[in-house]
Amino acid sequence: MLILRDDEAQAVVEAVRALGKAVIRDRVADYRARNEFPHDVHRALADGGLLGGLVPPEWGGAGMSYVTYVEMLEELSTFDHVMAGQAAHASGLLGAGILSFGTDEQRETFLRPLCEGTLHGSVAMTEPDGGSDVATMSTRARVDGDDYVIDGEKTFISHVANAEFFVTFAQSDPERGRKGICAFLVDRHAAGVEILPIDGVEVLRPHSWGQVYFDAVRVPAHRMLGRPGDGLKVALSALEQGRMAIAARACGAARECLAASVHYAKERVVFGRRIADHQMIQARLAEMASDIAASRVLVRHVAALKDAGHADVRAEAAMAKHRATEMLERVASSAISLFGAYGLTKDQPFEQYLLDAKAFQVAEGTTEIQRILIVRDLLDDHKDPLL
Ligand SMILES: Cc1cc2nc3c(=O)[nH]c(=O)nc-3n(C[C@H](O)[C@H](O)[C@H](O)COP(=O)(O)OP(=O)(O)OC[C@H]3O[C@@H](n4cnc5c(N)ncnc54)[C@H](O)[C@@H]3O)c2cc1C
Repeated sequence: MLILRDDEAQAVVEAVRALGKAVIRDRVADYRARNEFPHDVHRALADGGLLGGLVPPEWGGAGMSYVTYVEMLEELSTFDHVMAGQAAHASGLLGAGILSFGTDEQRETFLRPLCEGTLHGSVAMTEPDGGSDVATMSTRARVDGDDYVIDGEKTFISHVANAEFFVTFAQSDPERGRKGICAFLVDRHAAGVEILPIDGVEVLRPHSWGQVYFDAVRVPAHRMLGRPGDGLKVALSALEQGRMAIAARACGAARECLAASVHYAKERVVFGRRIADHQMIQARLAEMASDIAASRVLVRHVAALKDAGHADVRAEAAMAKHRATEMLERVASSAISLFGAYGLTKDQPFEQYLLDAKAFQVAEGTTEIQRILIVRDLLDDHKDPLL
């Protein structure tokens, strides 16, 4: 598929390819199997300026356009769609809330080192009673002197093993409902913070998943993100970026499935012919390629809208995430079929890709939630996402 790229995007894509070949390609199967976070790859991403994404250079970021950003994430995902998630942290919910709502001191303390690769953090939003309905949370924050005191429990939090801080959310005034939710930057080492790993994680390896408990954790008022009651705005501010990033990562992972399938189809001989010469295999490959191409177009469309200054791309981002993550499931499944029994062995990554497609469908808003967002615009008399 021909892709139109400006010089900035082309240079970044080429840099990612060089980095991927040099530091990821030969290592990824091993660190994925061990479920060990590759700190050297993380450092290489930082040194290559790839952790800074959309963040402006004045805060240590790369100041990429949205189109360059999704190109970068997709290309990186052809090598490793999980470490590509690291390149989305500073520009996603973790960093974007700090950029948009944080003070300069918070940006200096948290955002710049995130971009520079010297600090890790996690978003702790989901609670055991449900993640889709973020506004109904049980975690509480009460004022005590110059501090807030937080009590509650969060779960399914990614990257807990490395996280030095959490962007978390708590209800400070239940009577105000959604307007009572506050966002905080919480130090992992603060008294009362406890982390329990969720073991046996099979998705998005290398992945450390955990529960985070806040037991009367004192957080200084200057560690609130935004003003009291801004929590939901902080939480929702970066979801479009997060969804766009997941969609781009799904496209990159799917391209890798397709490339491996094309290669195998040309090598594998059955009934005296390369399977690439069997029409049903050709049809499968053609379906995979068109499926990927359609999702890539959707992702670039959202990014181009953002670059053109459209603030509300909620439905478009939802379409991209919904389509691309379902597409990855189909493409990974096709790769398994094409490889036959070999596709189900641990020598091949496709089973992992299939599981990761399911993880992508749930994280940052399930497929059902994406459909709800699309239909909301469709049913709104003042909006039509297809016009
Ligand atoms: C790989 C991975 C990483 C994650 N990392 C993080 C993280 O770092 N930080 C964090 O805070 N959370 C994280 N999560 C949690 C994630 O945000 C939640 O799992 C997600 O929001 C869904 O919440 P839930 O699992 O509680 O499902 P629920 O909200 O309980 O939903 C259950 C089912 O009901 C459906 N549903 C819900 N509402 C509706 C509706 N109105 N109409 C129709 N169907 C509906 C859902 O689609 C789903 O199928 C992660 C999840 C995954 C899979």
